[in-house]
Amino acid sequence: MPELPEITVIARQMNKEITEKRIGNIEAKQPKNLNLPVPKFVKTAKGKTVKNVSSKGKWISIKLNSAQYMLINLGMGAELLHFKPNQKLPEKYQFKLTFSDKTGFTIHFSWFGSIHLVPEKNLDKHKQTAKLGISPTDKIFTPEYFQKLLANRKARIKNWLINQKNVAGIGNVYIQDILFKAKLHPNRKISTLNKKEINNLYNAILSVLNRSIQLGGLAYEKDFYGQKGKLTINEFLVGYKTGKPCPTCKTPIIKIKTGSTSSYICQKCQPLKQP
Ligand SMILES: [Zn+2]
Repeated sequence: MPELPEITVIARQMNKEITEKRIGNIEAKQPKNLNLPVPKFVKTAKGKTVKNVSSKGKWISIKLNSAQYMLINLGMGAELLHFKPNQKLPEKYQFKLTFSDKTGFTIHFSWFGSIHLVPEKNLDKHKQTAKLGISPTDKIFTPEYFQKLLANRKARIKNWLINQKNVAGIGNVYIQDILFKAKLHPNRKISTLNKKEINNLYNAILSVLNRSIQLGGLAYEKDFYGQKGKLTINEFLVGYKTGKPCPTCKTPIIKIKTGSTSSYICQKCQPLKQP
């Protein structure tokens, strides 16, 4: 399942590749992915030019010259792949967008995903993206901003961080090493964190996510050009490493239940301090 690093990598590649291209044709084989009936969707997008591509959390945002956005969510997993003229296309895809120069991209959703066309003036009413929290890669996500964001919160730190309304883009994959690096137990209550712990957590979020972005994301996810990322599970510190020694103190890593998700922790490095 793609998280912030994978989506950031794809959005950056798309921004380089498709900016200033004009949409020629759209083929949508699965109407339920769209927020408009297929003919209306195609008519609205056709002939428009891409101004830029960016990302927010797990959403890719394509800005069109018509004051509209095409918002794409890859859901639990999907392949969003670039193609050149006459290039052989993937066997399966539900969506194909061709530019006037015959390049384009296809999307194959493995489970479920969304492609929405939203006028700029209605962006704040788009349910799925309007309420997204800040992306940790956003310039305004500073240590001071993060301190303020956590002030007076009562939730447990892991549940709060993976809630997309608080911070957008962190899911159950990257959270494991983020909390380990910050030496925090997933069930620590935010109200018990001191300033130094919050600073460490801030640094851990940026270092874990930026390292993955540099490596092109996870090894089991493909980028816009079909290349797999270089971050393998072997490189995780504690994530998915049940029974393996903690990289710091050699205590075996354990898997625990935290709310509805699983967590991988070193009990010694990440103690659950009581307030
Ligand atoms: Zn340890």
